[in-house]
Amino acid sequence: MKSVDLIQGAEENLFHVYNRFSVVFDKGEGVHLYDVDGKQYLDFASGIGVMAFGYGDKEYGDALKTQIDKLTHTSNLYYHEPMIMAAEKVCRVSGMDKVFFTNSGAEAIEGAIKTAKKYAYLRDGFAGHEIIAMEHSFHGRTVGSLSVTGTEHYREPFLPLMEGVRFATFNDLDSVKARITDKTCAIIMETIQGEGGLYPAEPDFIKGVRRLCDEHDILLILDEIQCGMGRSGAMFAWQKYGVKPDIMTSAKALGAGVPVGAFLVTDKVADASLVPGDHGTTYGGNPLVCAAVDKTIQMMESRRIPEHVESLSSYLEEVLDSIVAEYDFVESRRGMGFMQGLVLTIPVGDVVKKALDAGLVVLSAGGNVLRFLPPLVIEKNHIDEMATILRQVLDQMK
Ligand SMILES: *Cc1c(COP(=O)(O)O)cnc(C)c1O
Repeated sequence: MKSVDLIQGAEENLFHVYNRFSVVFDKGEGVHLYDVDGKQYLDFASGIGVMAFGYGDKEYGDALKTQIDKLTHTSNLYYHEPMIMAAEKVCRVSGMDKVFFTNSGAEAIEGAIKTAKKYAYLRDGFAGHEIIAMEHSFHGRTVGSLSVTGTEHYREPFLPLMEGVRFATFNDLDSVKARITDKTCAIIMETIQGEGGLYPAEPDFIKGVRRLCDEHDILLILDEIQCGMGRSGAMFAWQKYGVKPDIMTSAKALGAGVPVGAFLVTDKVADASLVPGDHGTTYGGNPLVCAAVDKTIQMMESRRIPEHVESLSSYLEEVLDSIVAEYDFVESRRGMGFMQGLVLTIPVGDVVKKALDAGLVVLSAGGNVLRFLPPLVIEKNHIDEMATILRQVLDQMK
């Protein structure tokens, strides 16, 4: 069936909660996508930072197919090998001590929040603790994760959300300090803000927050859902800053295409927070998704993906910087590694749509930022191909 007919049928049944683009994707190969009409697209979005290895990787696909034939689900009442292997790997590459697998990023945030609250509850002997979150942050769409998301229009219709959240200004240590009370149990932030507009934490800021947490026995929760798993040029972005969180969240590229997230904790936190009965999930970390996590981390290491990102990101930055220099309405570039944004003074939605028409998939962020989250396996020629298409699009907007 043609795209137009499929889309009409879709809108008859799908709850219209997304304004989807008029594209029906059919398959992917390498870093390209194809729609049902056979049109090719260069993918610089990777399904919002999920498809780290692009599409159709044989090693990844074979690992999942093998697991599908063996066992896809057991529940968390029993052990299974994929979870044991995935847990060992994700703890090893992160340097964290314990992991809990979830079905999504938002659920990883929920788990992180509950862990921090329980830690403070056991320490103080009472509940009612507070969390400091950042303005322009994004942590998900569930009620708990929305409570720490600093974008007012996402929150407004759903108030009241979880109590006790105070918002500070990202990269402003004094504003964080001013919000600490004797009830603060955690400070939560993305190491690199994604959705909010591609703002990397400044080194002094993140180090200062770590110091404040140590001084006040506050847990530092770093959300690595978007910036983690190699995208920054390190396996996890905080590893570039020389600070370590007490709790870390992961999702998106964690399973490189299956719905899986995780929150990880240090032993200090694991030994004094959640115990059996406090938390759970039916699907979380089932054999299928854990086989994907296990394979993903194995491939990230054997193919040296973070190193590849680190070495090629200066070229991506150079190409984007030259676009900033060429177009008046492209104001600046921000980001780190393969998580980059161009700040526009023209409507970013128009550019995203025109790029898609021209065969380039890109994203927006923060209202006026054109966001690039390519698969981590792109090569120099793909960056050149992206720049060629983007220039054609931007030339039309002059
Ligand atoms: C995408 C994202 C989330 C939410 O993840 P979901 O899987 O969509 O629930 C949370 N935090 C950050 C930083 C994200 O980019």
